Amino acid sequence: MKFHILTLFPDMVLQGLSTSIIGRAAEKKLIEINAVNIRDYTLDKHGKVDDYPYGGGAGMLMQAQPVFDAHKAVTEGRKVRTIYLTPQGQTFHQKMAMDFAQEKELVFLCGHYEGIDERVLEEVVTDSVSIGDFVLTGGELPAMVMIDAIARLVPGVLNNDVSAETESFHNDLLEYPQFSRPEEWHGKKVPAVLLSGNHRAITDWRLERSRERTKERRPDLYQRYLQKEQTIKRLSRKKRNHIHLMESLSRGKGEILYSEGENVLIYDRFCKICMLTAECREIGEKLLDSIPQETEFLVISQECMVPVVCERLGFRICDECYLACYTGKEALPVRYKDIRILEMDSLSYVMEHYRESKEYIRKHILAKALYGAYVDDTLVGFAGLHEDGSTGFLYVEEKYRRKGIGESLEAYCINRQREKGYTPYGYVVKDNEASIKLQERMGLYLSQSTIWWLGKK
Ligand code: SAM
Repeated sequence: MKFHILTLFPDMVLQGLSTSIIGRAAEKKLIEINAVNIRDYTLDKHGKVDDYPYGGGAGMLMQAQPVFDAHKAVTEGRKVRTIYLTPQGQTFHQKMAMDFAQEKELVFLCGHYEGIDERVLEEVVTDSVSIGDFVLTGGELPAMVMIDAIARLVPGVLNNDVSAETESFHNDLLEYPQFSRPEEWHGKKVPAVLLSGNHRAITDWRLERSRERTKERRPDLYQRYLQKEQTIKRLSRKKRNHIHLMESLSRGKGEILYSEGENVLIYDRFCKICMLTAECREIGEKLLDSIPQETEFLVISQECMVPVVCERLGFRICDECYLACYTGKEALPVRYKDIRILEMDSLSYVMEHYRESKEYIRKHILAKALYGAYVDDTLVGFAGLHEDGSTGFLYVEEKYRRKGIGESLEAYCINRQREKGYTPYGYVVKDNEASIKLQERMGLYLSQSTIWWLGKK
């Protein structure tokens, strides 16, 4: 991901972003920081970039021409989302960071003095963002704050697939308290459960502490969390059919766009997937107006809605699937042992055997979401977790099938999900009898009815 920063102080941002995690990410070329000095683009022969504001008033204003030309030089005619850092913008938050992290490149425009001539802002800015209700001397620190928050969501930057998933705001909850060595300090002991080695008990304890802490410190967030919990509770009456909606919410991926009775519309902005379940066609049709424009996939629970969606929103049918979920109390046995997290050197192998784009697979390897089965140190199959949280990607080479490798790969994915406190689930294409049998053999429950995946034409 590329970050262009238009500024009068390029050294300041380059220095600020060159150390620790963000610095290493740039070294590894996972991100690129391009600081551009606006002053280099002024046509004024004395290098001037500011002037007095018309109508009088305190201070100087950055002029339109150098900003416009610097922006033009960086974007070279491409449409790039351009963020103006300003106290007058929308206040930055984690969901915004997730949204920006989807872009391939971003331009940050840093103001100074009293700000920037409004006319150039009108021409180049797509998003105005503030980092809080206070006034700083320039946009450089806010740009650095935003870049730090966005860059750590880029797959591979944190070198740990779980960190970003468990931190504050991820699920409208603040993070739980944490402890490190020694076990006892100043007479205070680390809570026993954290030393138990019981992943499930640790997850439950942490969730409870997160709830308490959020209720006490951020009642506003806690209200949102509760609303979500209520929806999940209602959906759980038909858990097998609604597991995708429930997990999207409980994992902090989906946002509720509508929720009343059994009518629920959820948007996963990270994956650009909208999920809809409606009691009847009339209500479902009304909800179609709330589907965000950027949606690339729709997951519909009622068949009667499918023709309406195709006709009205121009989507096409991709698949009709069952949902399969694992609700067992015990971890599944993983009989085949040589399963490893895939690294980038397996990218071409996965691409050869799985019909998804290079970018999609690369992202999942960087997020450590793909696992490979090895025979004599040779990769012979893989499985993994899609970005929306469902398990899938299952592939085993023909000559290694019927040896329990596929089952072990799937069990491995399921167990990793369980350890995080999630209910593992996946989609099984309706006609794939072999896969349906495998799910049933492993003790997964299939949904009573099928759901429909629709994609933008
Ligand atoms: N006159 C401006 C106003 O009242 O809205 C404030 C200008 S401020 C002194 C100079 C620059 O600092 C702004 O153009 C902006 O780029 C940046 N800035 C200051 N506070 C900020 C904040 N809270 N969030 C984002 N950027 C900020």
